[in-house]
Amino acid sequence: RPAAFAGQKIVIVGAGLAGTLCAIMLAQRGARVEIIERQTFDPKDDYSNRRSFNVTVSSRGEAAMKAAGIWDRVKARTIAITGRTCHEGLGSTFFSYSRDRSVALHGARRSDVNGELLAAAAEHEGIAIRFGWTLRDLDKASGALTIAPVASDAPAETIGDADFVIGADGVHSAVRRLIHRGERADFTQRYLDWNYREIAIPAGPDADHPWRMDPNSLHLWPRGDLMMFALPNPDGSFTGNFIYPCAREADFAAIGLVGEMFRREFPDVAALVPDAEERLRVTPPSYFPTQRNSKWSHGDRFVLLGDAAHATVPFYGQGMNSAFESVLELVSCLERFPRSERARAFEAYQSARKPHTDAVADLSIENFDELRSRFRHVVPQARRRVEVLLNRLLPNAFVPLHVRVSHSLEGYRTAIDACARRDRLLRWFGFDLLVYAAAGGQIAATALHRVWHGGTGLS
Ligand code: FAD
Repeated sequence: RPAAFAGQKIVIVGAGLAGTLCAIMLAQRGARVEIIERQTFDPKDDYSNRRSFNVTVSSRGEAAMKAAGIWDRVKARTIAITGRTCHEGLGSTFFSYSRDRSVALHGARRSDVNGELLAAAAEHEGIAIRFGWTLRDLDKASGALTIAPVASDAPAETIGDADFVIGADGVHSAVRRLIHRGERADFTQRYLDWNYREIAIPAGPDADHPWRMDPNSLHLWPRGDLMMFALPNPDGSFTGNFIYPCAREADFAAIGLVGEMFRREFPDVAALVPDAEERLRVTPPSYFPTQRNSKWSHGDRFVLLGDAAHATVPFYGQGMNSAFESVLELVSCLERFPRSERARAFEAYQSARKPHTDAVADLSIENFDELRSRFRHVVPQARRRVEVLLNRLLPNAFVPLHVRVSHSLEGYRTAIDACARRDRLLRWFGFDLLVYAAAGGQIAATALHRVWHGGTGLS
């Protein structure tokens, strides 16, 4: 509906992933959009030199970006991820999933995705972006915002002519805090007991093939309490995340301690990053919060979007993908209801999304437990292999959960519940026996391989 928002002015706080995509979709439908972003970046920048973790775009994110007509330009900044490589002890590796590129995820630096979205937004005449301004206060009744420059003494300004305001200002959302003030709104924030620090694995010297590990894989080093994962970049480097118990934060102050632990647990990475300890020491720690809240909007003036409404830990790679689904749902609800019923549109949007965002938040925490510890054990590996095999044999009848989450548009809650019901049924038909048989085969094959090759495992 090209003119669904004609004549409306919409202010979005936060030019991150969700806010920028939403701005593009609203402007395409006739709205005038003003984005307030506290960072001072310039859309013409090369974002790749900024500190940024990597994200994987799955079908949900892809569908949303296609709907906005910007997928092709974002895709050009990504690299296909077809499976995951588990780096076990003794330098052995284990690849799971498939090499089939038609079901690949698309890995990219978050800053590259954001950069492309911002560039696309900047090309749209209906969108104005004010970088370097932060939200200070808001008036819940009138919808007016008070914004102030981040790096100058210029006076604060008031924006009082917006029809409504979208709070897309991320996990520590000021819009959320301010609209919840004085309301009966439940809000919970739970941090994992683990922190992480980024560590870059540089490209190799071979310009034709600069990746020093498989470039089409998510790399994992599960070590129980410690863990690393790394995603490839188009320039041949990898962005790694070193995850450790927050109780060990003090270790970074003691010279030698972290380096010794890193060399012992991740010798293959240490060989690629000789100054790993120094790099880790100077990188600030980051945290893993999960947030839920019971009130995503206030009247017909304010609504929350993306991490501001539903932040999850990244262990199913769904935070951005889910945020993009929320963009589609919000736009669709606003189109369905007349303007005079905008408050109802906001409520319909929350009702449609919250069961699914809560479900994926739980799933992501469970997956962290699997990735850091259980995945290294043979039974979960065997289960995944059996699932992939059954999916190949019965592509329509047996679809594993990770496929339904990452390669479909089915609601998260629906997919999780359907798989739980199916797994209960399969147990009656001896599915677990099949998994144990596969695990036994895996153990025997690994042992034989080790004997034959003198210490290295399967690859
Ligand atoms: P953000 O992208 O955080 O954007 C918020 C914006 O608001 C920022 O630009 C910020 O500067 C601005 N802002 C904040 N406060 C103010 C203010 N007061 N005034 C003005 N502007 C403000 N998701 C995936 O789908 N796949 C993955 O593989 C994946 N991997 C991840 C790995 C890691 C290590 C982490 C931490 C997250 C990962 N995610 C992943 C999650 C994903 O990054 C987030 O879900 C996504 O960025 C949310 O987008 P957003 O627009 O809601 O928030």
